[in-house]
Amino acid sequence: MSEPSFTNDNDLDIQGDILLVDDDLALLEAVTDLLDVSNFHVLTATDGESALAMMDDYTPDLIISDITMPGMDGYQFFDAVRQNPAWITIPFIFLTARGQQTDIRTGYSLGADDYLVKPFEPDDLIIKVEARLKRVRAIRAATRQEVDNMKQQLITIFSHELRTPLTCIYGYANLLQEDHDSMDDRTVTQMLDEVADGAERLVRLVENLMLLVRMDSGVVGMEISRYGVKVELSPLLKRVVELFQPIAAMRNVDIDLQISGDPIVSGMKNYLENVMKNLVDNGIKFCKHGRGHVQIKLETDGDQAILTVSDDGIGIAEADYERIFVRFEQINRHEMEQQGVGLGLTLAKNLVEFHGGSIELQSEVDRGSTFCVHLPLA
Ligand code: ADP
Repeated sequence: MSEPSFTNDNDLDIQGDILLVDDDLALLEAVTDLLDVSNFHVLTATDGESALAMMDDYTPDLIISDITMPGMDGYQFFDAVRQNPAWITIPFIFLTARGQQTDIRTGYSLGADDYLVKPFEPDDLIIKVEARLKRVRAIRAATRQEVDNMKQQLITIFSHELRTPLTCIYGYANLLQEDHDSMDDRTVTQMLDEVADGAERLVRLVENLMLLVRMDSGVVGMEISRYGVKVELSPLLKRVVELFQPIAAMRNVDIDLQISGDPIVSGMKNYLENVMKNLVDNGIKFCKHGRGHVQIKLETDGDQAILTVSDDGIGIAEADYERIFVRFEQINRHEMEQQGVGLGLTLAKNLVEFHGGSIELQSEVDRGSTFCVHLPLA
């Protein structure tokens, strides 16, 4: 195939590149002229297959395609275009013969953006093309802005989450190197504890990121279904609560643990422990300053194990219920000095779902939050 070229190459004020597909050569020529006059680059093809082949080299800003064509027809061509994630946002306009209402309905049901009935008014064509291009450009600009904001947010979160423990490790290690001769044993132990805490926080961060990657790639789901065993939740929960007692005490938070029965679920201990840790950690973290209270309950109800973690902390607005389960999302991070990168609940939700369960939230701003995990009993 000779290298395709767009028309109107010399014009500096180009509105966009359009791929026009139709087996009617007279129509191809007429529409090309029309678009050309309105400063569009036009690339033409006479069937879906050759149009697709062109798109390997050139990505158009918009596609106009006839429906009935020899070989790959317009619907098949549309399908093939939408299969490629890189082409998913390209506006697609179908051309159809007058009176073919079913064509129009089918086109829309496939997800086409618009249609033009042949023969059409030149102005209609230009208006539709310009409107679709304008819309897709606005969406792309908004998406770019969203991505930029997300990048900025990630840089802020990660630089804080990396810098804080690193500064602590580096600072205490330097002090110990320079002055340990003049320090008593207690001071040295305290400093080493700080170094260990900082290192642990970094290890946790890396582990959570690795877990996210393993979850996304399907490894975690596969592990749970293939290697899952019976797991007793009570001893696991007791251990997690013990682990958090010192942190809770430091923050003046009481933990009240109530366990009834001995629910056993099928799954993987380390992942279920991760869920418990994230919920308990958040309960303690988001208690109000001063005295806080975290209530943890484990019980069975029918064929379900139910774990409830309630706090009387800052609460979550209903509008944010979904957002907090989205990766790297944190509410009011700039106002709340909180540790974490916004991964805890994403991991918890996914891990619970991989175990066939669900996680629900009830919360009221300034009153507290309750996270309720349902898991099928083994
Ligand atoms: P992180 O590990 O950064 O805390 P999470 O995914 O665990 O991230 O939580 C996401 C966000 O949800 C938190 O940053 C916080 O804004 C909100 N959140 C989670 N748990 C609670 C809670 N118990 N009370 C109030 N807000 C919470």
